Amino acid sequence: MSYDDQNIFAKIISGEIPCDKIYESEFTIVFEDIRPQAPSHVLIIPRGKYRDINDFSKNANNDEILDLNKSISIVADKLGVSEDAGGGGYRLITNAGKDSHQEVPHLHFHLVAGKPLGPLLVE
Ligand code: 5GP
Repeated sequence: MSYDDQNIFAKIISGEIPCDKIYESEFTIVFEDIRPQAPSHVLIIPRGKYRDINDFSKNANNDEILDLNKSISIVADKLGVSEDAGGGGYRLITNAGKDSHQEVPHLHFHLVAGKPLGPLLVE
């Protein structure tokens, strides 16, 4: 499958569409979700063109994979939601493909926190 250059996160990466950025590094950008589903809800995305975690895990280089993974704890600590930072913890979610209900075809991790989040899946 090919990458859709017109997806909304590609436009956020290029600066064509604004976002509330809370962290960025060489290979990763983190910004507020436009429709937050918890008191803290941010999206962690690679700058590179990857459709989902399957594509990223298969095709990203080690620097990209390391940078994105490191960004998770940096952001969770910065937001104060990690238990290390005195918060209550957080949930990290990524959707991949149609059965997962992925809406935006650019890899993103949802980091949600700030309240008890309940069970992982709702029937
Ligand atoms: P998905 O269902 O693909 O896992 O999640 C896509 C997420 O992107 C949703 O939580 C949605 O609120 C968020 N989103 C969609 N469009 C925009 C946008 O233009 N800006 C921001 N910041 N988030 C967006």
